[in-house]
Amino acid sequence: VTLFISHTACLDHDVPKGFAENPDRLLAIANALSGDEFDALDQEDAPLLPVDMAVNVHSSDYLDYLEHARPREGMVQIAPDVMMSPGTWEAVLRSMGGAVYAVDAVLNQRARNAFCATRPPGHHAETAQAMGFCFINNVAVAARHAQSAHGLERVAIVDFDVHHGNGTQEIFWSDPSVMYASTHQMPCYPGTGAASETGAGNIFNEPLEPGSDGEALRLAFEEGIIPALNEFRPELIILSAGFDAHWRDPLADLRWTEEDFEWITRQLMAVANDHCNGRLISVLEGGYDLEALGSSVAMHVRTLMAE
Ligand SMILES: [Zn+2]
Repeated sequence: VTLFISHTACLDHDVPKGFAENPDRLLAIANALSGDEFDALDQEDAPLLPVDMAVNVHSSDYLDYLEHARPREGMVQIAPDVMMSPGTWEAVLRSMGGAVYAVDAVLNQRARNAFCATRPPGHHAETAQAMGFCFINNVAVAARHAQSAHGLERVAIVDFDVHHGNGTQEIFWSDPSVMYASTHQMPCYPGTGAASETGAGNIFNEPLEPGSDGEALRLAFEEGIIPALNEFRPELIILSAGFDAHWRDPLADLRWTEEDFEWITRQLMAVANDHCNGRLISVLEGGYDLEALGSSVAMHVRTLMAE
């Protein structure tokens, strides 16, 4: 079974009018998954977990700062493109909680795979720095949880968001027990992600030229990321699933289609089948054109549900 994890509290992370990362994104996803074909999804609420779950990833000073930065009303800016409203903190904890819950469900064999439709996203958040719409690095917390609570030795994070996951790379830079692989547009925000950035031999960056399409992406996976995954032999695959490489997306300039997201999903499911009984969790990152986000997530989830 495929788990679909979300929570209405993730709608209460308010942002200024016109902000790209807004609550309408989750409504577009819910709408796109409202058809009968998604009835078989096991829909569950993302739990509210204590912030301590993130201490293996973020500094306690940073977590303390975030927790106390939340305003009683209005909004405060805590970093460029990172705004906090009264509802933000619960949304942050539930985004983290959803990813952790997905790990538990998949490793306890209650579900084969899982998709977390939560916000705020996480892959730009570094050890002690909020950045680019992100507060807590959800996939990083999930990977550490898989290791500390379930004893896994090798976890792979694959990030197909159009932006490089600088935070995830920074967090695992010198940790060979976690592999981080990313396709992303370059040059683009946040500026990291050159192929020469390899960490402890566990970082695999596949920068893509602006304007490039599914052909370049297939090459990056077939010649770079998939062979690296096969060599690493992950016991769990975690996806930083951003859908902003879609041709319609306003924040970047790649030319991917729904079929490209389907292809990536199939490839990574095949790797998961080969190495870890199909165990895969997918966590929403970016995707800012509402129509493209809905149709791309529907394709991704439809593929995850197929046996
Ligand atoms: Zn992005």
